[in-house]
Amino acid sequence: MLSIHRTIPQLLSPITLPIKFSCMLSCMLPFATLCVQLWLSTVGGCAEPAVTNVVLITLDGLRGEEVFSGADQRLMVKENGVSQPDALKAKYWRESAEERREILLPFLWQQCQSNQGWLAGDVQQNSVVQVTNGLYFSYPGYNELLCGSPDPRVRSNDKKYNQNVTVLEWLNDKPEFKGHVAAYCSWDVFPFIINDQRSGIPVNAGWQRLTVGDANRLSALNLVSDQLFREWDGVRYDVLTASGAIEELKANHPRVLFVSLGETDDWAHAGRYDRYLLTSQQNDHFIRLLWETCQSLPSHQGKTTFIVTSDHGRGDGREGWKSHGVSLPGSERIWVAAFGPGLQATGIDRDHTFQQAQIAATVAALLGHDFTQSSPSVQPPLPIVKEVAR
Ligand SMILES: [Zn+2]
Repeated sequence: MLSIHRTIPQLLSPITLPIKFSCMLSCMLPFATLCVQLWLSTVGGCAEPAVTNVVLITLDGLRGEEVFSGADQRLMVKENGVSQPDALKAKYWRESAEERREILLPFLWQQCQSNQGWLAGDVQQNSVVQVTNGLYFSYPGYNELLCGSPDPRVRSNDKKYNQNVTVLEWLNDKPEFKGHVAAYCSWDVFPFIINDQRSGIPVNAGWQRLTVGDANRLSALNLVSDQLFREWDGVRYDVLTASGAIEELKANHPRVLFVSLGETDDWAHAGRYDRYLLTSQQNDHFIRLLWETCQSLPSHQGKTTFIVTSDHGRGDGREGWKSHGVSLPGSERIWVAAFGPGLQATGIDRDHTFQQAQIAATVAALLGHDFTQSSPSVQPPLPIVKEVAR
């Protein structure tokens, strides 16, 4: 960012229901009652989506190269800020790409290879997720992925309130989500991207103190935040953002939670490939903690889907990886992971091209809503969401 830069329940149809109902009545009354309830819920309006909550996580500028192939041996050298190349290789280098990526991002790969996970953007599999804003840096990328379309007016990372409505704001305007949407972000531009003034969504970002959650833990986290050396003025350490988001989950059980982690981009701009790898692995751990927290909450257990993605790609080669933008090929490609209930497509995607702009409507579709109704420019959801009977 530093860039200058559902399951459709197996319903009995209205025609078959009476026959099945009469046959089963004597011996299977509970089952028949359930069938009637499901049928009534369908004819009465819409079936409930399998997903009640969505957690959307972004890892700023983490390249698909590392997501799909793990650490790049060419970059684990002293010229890329690696003081101990042999130790770094011992930690992250393995012969096969599969081994390397599972060492770097173990939880993401475990989830995406489960029967409830999906992952796209591996160019080796002819799977592409395109950034379509043409600029390939943070504010335009976050605007595209949160608002569902690129906006040529968004041309800088300046702290200007976004004129576009994010899917977070659109959902928060619905009675069922009002007050149940929250955002925790490492980068201090997010209150502007999400337009917290207009949207009313609480956005805890940058070096803001954490205010929601267990008093003792908040006190300790804020003490650390106040006293740590700050590597960047506008980006706090991701451990604080992730810890704040976990506190929010435990205290308020938000139905839509946006968590934006930022260190990957900043360590890359600093030319520190060792810390870029380390923070990628650390972020994978934070995603696991967020998932495990969800599974510990009755409001979220078994009915929460995660989407994990990035705002832009980065360049290639010994220098190109450090930055991103129009002049650095590779910056226009990202990746998208999803895992949890409510997905119809699973596994590692092959031979498809998607767009970053499809992510916003995917968040809404998982929750049973059509974000494309908000504006003609909003792109359709990724074709991974189980359809809901309406
Ligand atoms: Zn950047």
